[in-house]
Amino acid sequence: MRVSVIGCGHLGIPHAAGMAHLGHQVIGVDIDAQKIAALNAGRTPIYEAGLPELLAKHTESGELRFTTDMREAAEFADLHFLAVGTPIDSDGRSYDTGQLFGAVRELAPHLTKPCTIMGKSTVTAGTTRRLTDLVRRLAPAGDAVDVVWNPEFLREGHAIDDTLRPDRIIAGVTSKRAEEVVRQVYAPILATGVPLFVMSPETAELAKGAANTFLGMKISYINTVADMCAAAGADVLQLVDALGIDPRIGSGGMKPGIGYGGGCLPKDVRAFTASAAQLGVPDAETLLRAAEAVNEHRPGHAVELVDAALWRELDGARVAMWGAAFKAGTNDVRESPALSVAGRLHQHGARVTVHDPVAIPTAARRHPELEYAATVEEASQGADVVVIGTEWSEYLDADPQAIGDIVASRVVVDFRNILDGQRWADAGWTVHRLGRPSLLPA
Ligand code: NAD
Repeated sequence: MRVSVIGCGHLGIPHAAGMAHLGHQVIGVDIDAQKIAALNAGRTPIYEAGLPELLAKHTESGELRFTTDMREAAEFADLHFLAVGTPIDSDGRSYDTGQLFGAVRELAPHLTKPCTIMGKSTVTAGTTRRLTDLVRRLAPAGDAVDVVWNPEFLREGHAIDDTLRPDRIIAGVTSKRAEEVVRQVYAPILATGVPLFVMSPETAELAKGAANTFLGMKISYINTVADMCAAAGADVLQLVDALGIDPRIGSGGMKPGIGYGGGCLPKDVRAFTASAAQLGVPDAETLLRAAEAVNEHRPGHAVELVDAALWRELDGARVAMWGAAFKAGTNDVRESPALSVAGRLHQHGARVTVHDPVAIPTAARRHPELEYAATVEEASQGADVVVIGTEWSEYLDADPQAIGDIVASRVVVDFRNILDGQRWADAGWTVHRLGRPSLLPA
């Protein structure tokens, strides 16, 4: 099929590359000319394992190209994926749909032949209907243009894998004709047994928000349990093993830490909560607000734990923050808990040096007040405390003896519970672990 992907960000780039990989001819569209030039040269501004190879392969073959020209995309494609951003609005609660409606306003006047618009961005219930009205008014092809909602569930850090091998595909449609297009574009994926759920656009829109919100609630839940474990001298990781084995509960998303972050979960929980209020379901709002409040408290709580771990005043202390990305596997720092903690420590007078294997450029743009280091050794030089903020696997390989020789105090706070604590304690470190008993130097 000839498809366009409108919006080339964390979702759109992997999706465009993934569609080319499935055998479609793809044109990616973005308003950012610099980004488009880089993508046409096979370079990606986002870090995702496997993406550079896929981009290079399909841009070289000509099956995948990028443009800033919406008319070109409208003339080329029969199916238009919408993958533009839906950030949170200035009210802090609802989605800003400016990119979405802006892109459709730009696209629709060029739609002169029957085609399908397939929305992938995360939106509130009712958005597909409103976009359909707009398209039918603006597109010369009128009723021959279908609008479908096909929410995306990819996880950053696994974007290519999740695009090509998703858990499920959702089609929010109002006609058999539109459902057929969904079946056609995803045919190679559906042939592997991935389930397709066909439903109304409203159900599809809510299904995405409900999924992310449930994940947010689960994370907030296990984070509060971690705090209870800390207070009781218990071990949250052992507890999670015992809890997650129950098929009604499951272990997915049960990683205690400093809260959920990124470009999706925080805004999606906020918007879904606001949506509950708008739809007149106050119990849902109460439940979800609690999960949100827990998440908002996490960075402040983390700062208290770092303060308590220090042998000296926080003001003036040197902190080595290992990790800036909101999670491992991405250079995305939107609402990153690690950076939020780093920023707050800085505000309390600490001198914070941040290391991250891939996210330093993106982090430095958002937090220019922090210092950055290219290696963990450089970040840890003279540190009064090492803080693990992101669960990068390379931090597991750090040598506690060698790092111990360059820090001012052998104190580590592992907010991601990734270190082999005993190995670090044996090397003379005091190891603070979230929701688990601390280990003292051997
Ligand atoms: P992003 O900010 O990384 O990318 C959005 C892109 O759209 C930007 O490159 C921007 O320049 C472009 N854009 C804005 N207006 C445009 C227009 N009129 N025409 C063409 N391009 C335009 O956002 P993202 O993280 O990729 O998220 C996109 C959507 O997908 C959001 O609704 C998000 O909630 C949803 N989503 C994201 C993920 C994820 O992992 N990031 C996963 C599932 C769903």
